Amino acid sequence: MTNTPPVCNYEGSDYQTSFWEQGGREYEDRAEAIALKRMLPENGKLMLELGAGAGRNTPRYAGFDRIVVLDYSTTQLAQAQERLGRSEPQGAAPKYIYVAADIYRLPFRDSQFDAATMIRTLHHMADASKALSQIKNVLQSNAIFILEFANKRNFKSILRYWLGKQDWDPFSLEPVEFVKLNFDFHPKAVRNWLEELGFSIEKTLTVSYFRISLFKRIFPAKFLAALDGLLQPMGALWQFTPSVFMKARVGEKDAGQMNEFPVNVIELFKCPDCGSEKLEEKTDHLHCPNCQAKWAVRDGIHDFREKMKQV
Ligand SMILES: [Zn+2]
Repeated sequence: MTNTPPVCNYEGSDYQTSFWEQGGREYEDRAEAIALKRMLPENGKLMLELGAGAGRNTPRYAGFDRIVVLDYSTTQLAQAQERLGRSEPQGAAPKYIYVAADIYRLPFRDSQFDAATMIRTLHHMADASKALSQIKNVLQSNAIFILEFANKRNFKSILRYWLGKQDWDPFSLEPVEFVKLNFDFHPKAVRNWLEELGFSIEKTLTVSYFRISLFKRIFPAKFLAALDGLLQPMGALWQFTPSVFMKARVGEKDAGQMNEFPVNVIELFKCPDCGSEKLEEKTDHLHCPNCQAKWAVRDGIHDFREKMKQV
């Protein structure tokens, strides 16, 4: 369990402000909203948002009864709490449940969620297939999974490759790590991983056609996003945009694996170290009676990254 790939950590980052609010990403944000709307069910019970960051997309999942807002960084989650409101992490039915955890070691019991999303996060996964298999475990039969990833085979990389300005081949299936812990993927490789895990892909949308600074300077974001929205369904035929969304569905799982929707938040969790489902609620942590690990509950955030030091 300890040999998990490295994690890209946004702890202390001002990513939300510098990248999204002041970085001229209004067009990308709007284009993502259009894609998400096309893929999301109108309502549902329990959504898992992986790599939620500061909760930029979370309000778009409002049709779900409850949303687990998961990120590796607690400072990102604190920003999400400011945006969405903090709810009591323990006890009965909060709308948002904030969880700091490593996607390779998800702290959830199997087959709990009826939907999950992972937007701009696979991007940081050195072992994408392993991360996807963890996600599949926690999804119920027929649950949907919306995955966005950065596409290595995009117009710009192909052009650069043809002009001899780029060494790596945009048409080969292996991921490219263009900056440390930042990966772009080939759409076919992602499709293969999902299908090997038993997902069926129901929809593919190509997003961010106009991620070119000249366009973004000339045209209003709203206009570019609307145009993007018109082109997104072309993803069914071919994918050459820098961002791709896939909507995948989990197949039928064994009946024995199906869990009822939990009443108490603690029933969602398992110990990420030993897998025990018998966690006990203490004042500032969850205690695992099996391996004695303590998982902190601090400022409304369940922290499953590292166990608390034994005192
Ligand atoms: Zn344990």
